[in-house]
Amino acid sequence: AKKKGNSYLFFNDTMNRQAVKRLQIENLMRFGLKENHFEVYYQPKMNIRTGKLTGMEALVRFITPKKGIISPGVFIPIAEETGQIIEIGEVVLNKACRDVKQWLDDGLFSGRVAVNLSAKQFSLPDLTTRIDVILQKNELPSYFLELEITEGTVMDDPQEAIAIMRSLSARGIHLAMDDFGTGYSSLAYLKQFPLNTLKVDKAFIDDMKTERGRNMVDSIVTIAQNLDLHVVAEGVEQANQIEILKKLNCETVQGYYYSKPLSKDEFTAFLKQQQSK
Ligand code: C2E
Ligand code: CA
Ligand code: CA
Ligand code: CA
Repeated sequence: AKKKGNSYLFFNDTMNRQAVKRLQIENLMRFGLKENHFEVYYQPKMNIRTGKLTGMEALVRFITPKKGIISPGVFIPIAEETGQIIEIGEVVLNKACRDVKQWLDDGLFSGRVAVNLSAKQFSLPDLTTRIDVILQKNELPSYFLELEITEGTVMDDPQEAIAIMRSLSARGIHLAMDDFGTGYSSLAYLKQFPLNTLKVDKAFIDDMKTERGRNMVDSIVTIAQNLDLHVVAEGVEQANQIEILKKLNCETVQGYYYSKPLSKDEFTAFLKQQQSK
């Protein structure tokens, strides 16, 4: 009876329950990598003046037969810790390149696909070779690729990061700073990084309800323009946000207002619909 009591305590302990959950997800990911349970969805990036598609972000979806769809917010942090994010990231990059190559060949799209790159992937010593191999395998010129990295990824060792970013940039790959303003970043470094795009985090877009919030986005857009960077507003959901962003000269947006992330087939239909416009 005593033993039973102990195991009862054990499994009700929050920390242990979390550890069990983590282990379950780690195992599901290992199985999912073998069984091809990771899919790539695409969210359009739109020009708000022309109403035209300018690009898209590839977002991973973990679709398990038994547990349904597991959100990136749940499994990505665990995959980062276990290192599985490296393999998952390669699956995403490979599928994104494959799909964009097809859209390109079908004459449906000739812009860039943005793929998220985790800190673990970024610091791989053979990162550029791995990317070259995937691009070559899919016969996709590097011009069509953009990589999204976060402040945390580059601020860990900024000098090293600059070297890595230069080698990617030299291939014609574009680089975007994701979730800009939410992490620890330094303006002194911002101008040294060979970036092409700043993505303004949804938190700032939500804050545009207030005057201070609008001033903040105005300032970020101004900094970006002074540094010759494109700006993308993330998580735009409402028409009034579009109106404000127009006034602030932020032309490119990504968010539910235009579209949620779409499966490959849904995105193909979206591209065809765009073409008929
Ligand atoms: P993120 O890179 O900032 O991606 C944007 C997230 O915001 C996506 O969530 C997208 O679905 C969501 N979103 C877009 N527009 C709206 C909107 O209007 N309203 C709201 N509420 N949400 C919006 P998702 O797909 O769940 O991804 C969450 C995070 O997981 C991503 O944030 C990224 O950090 C990470 N992630 C996703 N796919 C990958 C991947 O392939 N590799 C890596 N390393 N991380 C990934
Ligand atoms: Ca992103
Ligand atoms: Ca983001
Ligand atoms: Ca985010």
